[in-house]
Amino acid sequence: MTAEIIAVGTELLLGDILNTDAQFLAKELASLGIGLYAQSVVGDNADRLKQAIKTALFRADLVILSGGLGPTDDDITRETAAEVLGKSLIYHEEIYDAIVARIRKKISESNKRQAMVPEGAIILHNDNGTAPGLYMEENGKTLILLPGPPMELEPMFRDKVVPLLKEKTGVVILSETVRLFGIGESAVGEAVKDLMESENPTVAPYVKDGDVTLRITARAETNDAAHAMILPVKNHILHRLYDYVYGFGDTTMVKKVLSYCLSQNLTLSTAESCTAGMIAAAIGDMPGVSAIFNEGFVTYSNEAKEKNLGVPHEILTSHGAVSRQTARAMAEGVCRRTGSHIGISATGIAGPDGGTPEKPVGLVYIGVCIGGETSVRKCLLHGSRNRVRRMTVLNAFDEVRKHLAIPNEYFND
Ligand code: ATP
Repeated sequence: MTAEIIAVGTELLLGDILNTDAQFLAKELASLGIGLYAQSVVGDNADRLKQAIKTALFRADLVILSGGLGPTDDDITRETAAEVLGKSLIYHEEIYDAIVARIRKKISESNKRQAMVPEGAIILHNDNGTAPGLYMEENGKTLILLPGPPMELEPMFRDKVVPLLKEKTGVVILSETVRLFGIGESAVGEAVKDLMESENPTVAPYVKDGDVTLRITARAETNDAAHAMILPVKNHILHRLYDYVYGFGDTTMVKKVLSYCLSQNLTLSTAESCTAGMIAAAIGDMPGVSAIFNEGFVTYSNEAKEKNLGVPHEILTSHGAVSRQTARAMAEGVCRRTGSHIGISATGIAGPDGGTPEKPVGLVYIGVCIGGETSVRKCLLHGSRNRVRRMTVLNAFDEVRKHLAIPNEYFND
């Protein structure tokens, strides 16, 4: 089955908002094993939209439109799609009632357009907004209309559209994700090049903020068969990239490390310079963490490092605040001061200013002290000040993961 995506909206065309719906849909289609032929963006113009739908229906079996289903005059997707398919629009009282129940007031006559449905269309109820999605089939082609807001489109696609597409393709489609950190996308690509060439199961990489995710997707006749196809691929990935794999499925580095600490009752404290509390904040984001999080110090100045963490004056004067020795002394100092099992420190140059040839912007030292043993990670991070700080947080948790040697079986979600 081949597909095309059309995003509707003048604000998308003019670059006022990013077309994240297309990005989401493209990834979802790939994981379903449906080949995506083209993506386009069309403004709120009926003639051009009509043309775009006709072209897409000619080229692809499945056409997904996002946006333009709302109540205002520039929301033209429903009417235009019905016209292309030669369908008349039928008023559905239950949609009207659902909209009224949702917004808790009577809607105007013109807003009743949202309750108009092309004849024969399957209605995809919107649990997060007013405009329902629509699923239509005509002459062997499928046309799906989805609301524009991502918080409406994404759950509707996952919960309502995917089951219909799976039924249509008549196969079981199963995906598993392997999460990696500390390795770039191209190095991952090199390591699993042969696996990425396979058509079934497929292996696709995604990158976000230093995290590389490999999604393995298998198409088979049964669930068991799909599982059996995924397993050897997953094992190959683990075998080749073992050191970088921190988890599977829907997890994050921070979640993984903190759930392990929680399960082992390991207490934590932080001593931060360049991240100014971001590591502590990441810990605080995790529910239930008060059982293990003792204290977080933000020690920007040398005086604060000395006073609050007991970093020796001579370390700061001879090696500087951004140094392996200071990171070590900060991590050890915070453990000493708080009595925590784990002390995490970070000191670095987030930029954009303050770099020197010896200590460039992006140079960060992360210290992790556990049970009197301290490791220090030196990172050379790239990008904006914000990115350097975000990556420092992830590297800090990765250093804890490595230092604790979180066992492999723990990875199984
Ligand atoms: P509504 O009922 O909210 O009007 P709609 O289906 O008519 O929904 P649009 O009016 O086209 O959708 O867009 C509403 C909002 O949804 C936009 O202002 C934008 O914030 C978001 N949105 C629309 N299309 C996209 C897209 N392709 N990617 C990301 N966000 C989008």
